[in-house]
Amino acid sequence: MSDPILGLLKTKASEAFKQGDFTTARSLYSHSVDIDPQDDTHPLNRSLMNLRLTRWSDAEEDATKALALCQCTKNDHKQKAYYRRCQARREMGDIVGAQNDLKAFASTGGARDLVDAEQKKIDSSITTPQLVPAHQSLLLESKSAPSERTYFIDDAGNKGLGAFAARDIHRGDLILTEKPLLPFPHNSPSRTELRLAMDNLSPTDLLVFLSLKNTRPDRGDTIDGIYKTNAFANGGIVIEASRFNHSCRPNARYSYHEATNRQRIFALTYIPEGEEIFVSYLASRNVYGATRNQRQAALRAKQNFLCSCAACGLDRQLSLESDRRRTEIRSIWDRMPTFNPRTDGRAYLQIVVRAINLMKEEGYWADADDFANEAAALCSMHADWESAKYWHGIVYETRVAEFGKDSAHTFKARRDFEDPRSIDHPYAGVFHGQTFADIRL
Ligand SMILES: [Zn+2]
Repeated sequence: MSDPILGLLKTKASEAFKQGDFTTARSLYSHSVDIDPQDDTHPLNRSLMNLRLTRWSDAEEDATKALALCQCTKNDHKQKAYYRRCQARREMGDIVGAQNDLKAFASTGGARDLVDAEQKKIDSSITTPQLVPAHQSLLLESKSAPSERTYFIDDAGNKGLGAFAARDIHRGDLILTEKPLLPFPHNSPSRTELRLAMDNLSPTDLLVFLSLKNTRPDRGDTIDGIYKTNAFANGGIVIEASRFNHSCRPNARYSYHEATNRQRIFALTYIPEGEEIFVSYLASRNVYGATRNQRQAALRAKQNFLCSCAACGLDRQLSLESDRRRTEIRSIWDRMPTFNPRTDGRAYLQIVVRAINLMKEEGYWADADDFANEAAALCSMHADWESAKYWHGIVYETRVAEFGKDSAHTFKARRDFEDPRSIDHPYAGVFHGQTFADIRL
């Protein structure tokens, strides 16, 4: 079964062609050639774009390729290929080659007036070779790029491309804000929804979409493969944000800001200029609460790559220590609901402290709010408002760094921090008599 992207590529390339954007049309046809190399139509179409772009030798090569592939019983495609190759060869000064192609064009039923006009050009040996750029990058500059770059895209070794700090970046700094190319804020789109959204893309945006990685090329559906490889849980397809690689010890975090329909990335730690910026592709507990094997299995299933990040690439001994810490964090999280909040308050807060400290030891600088939030709730139950404020402060600080000051998550944390007694918790203030002022990070 042929890949559904082929029909879309044809439509969008022809749209770009009509707009006079031959570069985009040519790149779109190149994708068709790569996806479906046995069909002569794709090199034939691309040869015309090459002619328009005065890329004579590329046009000649494509026409030759189309002729070799052509199985048509009618002469339609052959005629076009001979005609295009004739023009390319004439432009390059290959008069003999051009003359032969023109004969072949005529003998396959090429229009008489075209033959005559072309013959005149060959006779007068008009050759206007022009220098053209040898390479035109498929990667277009993103329109959403901030004017003062906090990062740049560069070769990241076996990971392909990656994002690197363009200057020293500090915890809580906004690294990227970007409007999604295909916004699906809340859920995974159905195939029909995705196809409809793709139909509405401009030819250049389709090209940008196709420049993204597809870790499932074997499955035969390019749109689906690229979407699933790159889509964010919230926010759909975001081009620049997709260029940031994964680490199980990330120094940055992405989040979708619904109020502005932007995907954003904030720094979790200090990132010196030149260092690679990593986000986590896995949800919180599946990264800070999972062993190397568990994380690698999850990433392989989700993204089809073997993670060799700073945490996964540790030597055996250090890796065992890292696994032990993450397993303990996970087990703390799982045990927390079993504590009796009335009688086990102190022990509860002590394991919260333990969990957050283990995260720090592990070099994991996100999600302390998961635990601190529970600690704040417990202190509220005991009406220890000072301690509640302390833990709300940890939640607030973490969320500012993770999501920015203007996110809904952060607004709530700020309100609780500023007025702990206003907390919306059914058990707030039900116990009295205990204070936890001595249990802090
Ligand atoms: Zn990893």
